[in-house]
Amino acid sequence: MNSADSILTHFKKYKDMSINIDITRGKPEGLQLDISNELLSLKVDPITESGIDLRNYGEPLGIEEARELGSQILGAPSKNIIAAEQSSLLLTYQTFLSYYLFSDDPWKKRKSKKFIYPVPGFDRHFRILEDFDIEVITVPLKDDGVDIEEYTKILKENNDVCGILSVPRHSNPSGETFTDENIKKIFKIGKEYSDNFLFIFDHAYLVHDFLPTIKQTPIWSIATTEKVTDNCVVATSFSKVTFGGGGLSFILSGGRSFNLIKRMRESMIICPDKINQKRHVMFLKDIDNITNHMKKHAELILPKFEAVKKILSDIPSECGSFSNPTGGYFMTYNFNKPIATKVQTICEEMGLYITPASSLFPKGKCLDNVLRIAPTYVSVNKLELAMNIFITAVQIAHFDIEY
Ligand code: PMP
Repeated sequence: MNSADSILTHFKKYKDMSINIDITRGKPEGLQLDISNELLSLKVDPITESGIDLRNYGEPLGIEEARELGSQILGAPSKNIIAAEQSSLLLTYQTFLSYYLFSDDPWKKRKSKKFIYPVPGFDRHFRILEDFDIEVITVPLKDDGVDIEEYTKILKENNDVCGILSVPRHSNPSGETFTDENIKKIFKIGKEYSDNFLFIFDHAYLVHDFLPTIKQTPIWSIATTEKVTDNCVVATSFSKVTFGGGGLSFILSGGRSFNLIKRMRESMIICPDKINQKRHVMFLKDIDNITNHMKKHAELILPKFEAVKKILSDIPSECGSFSNPTGGYFMTYNFNKPIATKVQTICEEMGLYITPASSLFPKGKCLDNVLRIAPTYVSVNKLELAMNIFITAVQIAHFDIEY
């Protein structure tokens, strides 16, 4: 361990430097956005080969070429995919709204409703659940996915659970990738619980590996084998493939779920932005080209994660440990004591802004034992400074050093 004096010297030095570094959100940096600049000048023929006029209304499920691209990345038939607009968050929201309003047993009429959510998790998901007055039951995330023992126990003890929402690949914030076996068990146990149990997967980081990652069978194949396609919804987008909020989004579902989401969207959207869909199809082409495109992102992102890990390794192991993602946009530092908010506050005193610990849990359920680090947006130099500030704050908080 560094001595208390040397830790305090660092604290004072950083405090005097008038630093202002914000790593609260997982945004791509400018160089990542530049990878897709060709999209800005691509000339789009307004009439497609099949005679669709992209400038007009029509094709509410998305143009066939875009649905085909979705089919390639999600490993599912294009007839089960809606190629949409804007973001996966929007589609996830529309999924909740459709079940809330229009399912056979609409959630709005239920006295109590609950959803299972693996934590730590994504604050915008918690907001959706809160908007629909759905109580969140948290389940721990393990290296291979959802803690199945705990998941089983929750379902035994509650009779009003509507479903489970999770991020199955490079989860936000800790970066876990679920194994096939884990996904299979999620389906099996949920299906045994109820024929209406809904499985929602936010595949925001489906193609976002930066290191070799365990092989994951497409969720749709597992759902098909387990006969749960009517209750399975998978959302993804190109927000972190091309432009934030300016890519395409995809929603994959079957039977009842597909019809509900389609029904919901028909009330809100006459058709998606087909010109942007065509532009993306021309630019991204197919799964192999997307994989190559994502390698360019990985080349920019990986050195940042490596820099973070190198500096975090200097923290004495008695303070905690960090997660080791192989893709995505986030990693976590897990504290051995409930000091996350204290660490975040001390970081802020030195000019480093981190997502509050409370954002990683549903309201009132914060364990205060983990912080999220979002390395992508700032330069490596700034990130190194940020992490040196972070390790100073961790040690002040853990060793209860007066500052
Ligand atoms: N889902 C998860 C799990 C995310 O981490 C993010 C981005 N932070 C999003 C969705 C947002 O992606 P989109 O723009 O497609 O909504």
